Amino acid sequence: MPKIKLKMKNKKPAKEDIQKMKKEKAAKVQSKVEQPIKEKKIKAPRSFQTLKGMKDILASENKYWEYVKTKAKNFALNYGYESIETPILEETALFNRAVGNETDIVSKEMFSFVDQGEENVCLRPEATASVVRSYVQHGMLNLPQPVKFFYFGPMFRYDRPQAGRLRMFHQIGLEAIGEESPIIDAEIIFFVYNFLKDLGLKTVIEINSIGCPKCREAYKTKLINYYRDRKSGLCEDCQKRLVKNPLRLLDCKEEGCQAYKEDAPQIVDWLCDECKNHFVGVLEYLDESGVIYNLNPRLVRGLDYYTKTVFEFFPDNADGVEKRQDALGGGGRYDGLVEYLGGRPTPACGVALGLERIILKLKENNIEIPALRKPDIFLAQLGEQARKKSFILIEELRKSGFYVVHSCSKKGLKKQLEMANKDGVKYTLILGQKEVIDGTIIVREMEGGAQEIVDFNKTVQEMKKKIILQ
Ligand code: AMP
Repeated sequence: MPKIKLKMKNKKPAKEDIQKMKKEKAAKVQSKVEQPIKEKKIKAPRSFQTLKGMKDILASENKYWEYVKTKAKNFALNYGYESIETPILEETALFNRAVGNETDIVSKEMFSFVDQGEENVCLRPEATASVVRSYVQHGMLNLPQPVKFFYFGPMFRYDRPQAGRLRMFHQIGLEAIGEESPIIDAEIIFFVYNFLKDLGLKTVIEINSIGCPKCREAYKTKLINYYRDRKSGLCEDCQKRLVKNPLRLLDCKEEGCQAYKEDAPQIVDWLCDECKNHFVGVLEYLDESGVIYNLNPRLVRGLDYYTKTVFEFFPDNADGVEKRQDALGGGGRYDGLVEYLGGRPTPACGVALGLERIILKLKENNIEIPALRKPDIFLAQLGEQARKKSFILIEELRKSGFYVVHSCSKKGLKKQLEMANKDGVKYTLILGQKEVIDGTIIVREMEGGAQEIVDFNKTVQEMKKKIILQ
């Protein structure tokens, strides 16, 4: 049987058969063409939303963002901090090493993944590690020290979203690398205090010293001994912290763990002479500058790289230090980090402020924010020729520094004047068919409605006389 089949398969079809097959195929195609087209059910395209814990910053929010960012930048420049921008994506190992494997940020909150090149990368959860990486990578140790950086940008932490706690948020930060004097710690604290005060926000500063790795070891042993006796009463996380990161026991927000903090040994009692003197130095500078602060022996901060001074800024209407979860910013000294990331031993200090939280507070406190710059001129045009001529004029006005708006579609004069009013411009230029023929343009003062006809070719000069550009 298989043999016969094979033979049949190899047999060439006769000419008549081929023609018959062709005819059948053509008829099939024809019948398909004549068939009424079945209407396909078109599914409505699905719409998309931002990811949980992430937000669009819309135009209506712009004035807050611009105001806070510009003020921060001006402050930073006055204090001698220069701008730095580092990539949002970094090697995951950078944060494992700098922030610490046992911290919440690294162990629970990292947006990390393996990229197409099999590299383990992550969206940065904070920027200090990146700035230090950059300092070491570019040999900035050879620059006059300290090197003072200012940055602004998005950070990512896979946290439980709530008011003031997002998965993508923005930080303004300062890092001063290469200076051990307590004056830098005090200067950074003073900067933030003044900056927030200038925004209209009163703050409470909490400050502590967590010592250096040497004196901290003895303290850790003391702390472990204290908590070991109370282990059964601790939350699950703290039971792990007791073994892996005992300092963080003091940082726990769980109610059950709060009670134990009261009688826990305090690190300030265990500081070595160098750390003690440094801390006293910071406080003396702060006293000198008149900044009010609270000594908080339980403030440890959640990142492994800190040494000596640590501090946090809270809105002054927050209730109860221990309950506070809405810090506007925090920072401290990280004298070991440069070396830990491959550089030479280099002392450093920094701070990061949360922009969303600052803006939230500005709104809550009804603090008035200056409006963004309004347009100077509205250009209204009527007719095709005027539209073309005004297109060039708008560009000339913009080149001269004016903020010019116009209507792109074919609206009547009344509608365009309404738009000009809404935009809040002082002057509207009107170019109609008559003006095109006469080589003129109408300048309308919006407040009183007074109109004046000027030479079209002198429009820019005339407007420069009327509007003083800043
Ligand atoms: P940290 O890097 O944790 O010291 O945070 C510094 C500041 O960034 C905090 O004081 C907050 O103002 C802000 N911040 C930290 N985490 C978040 C978050 N998940 N959402 C919004 N702001 C945050």
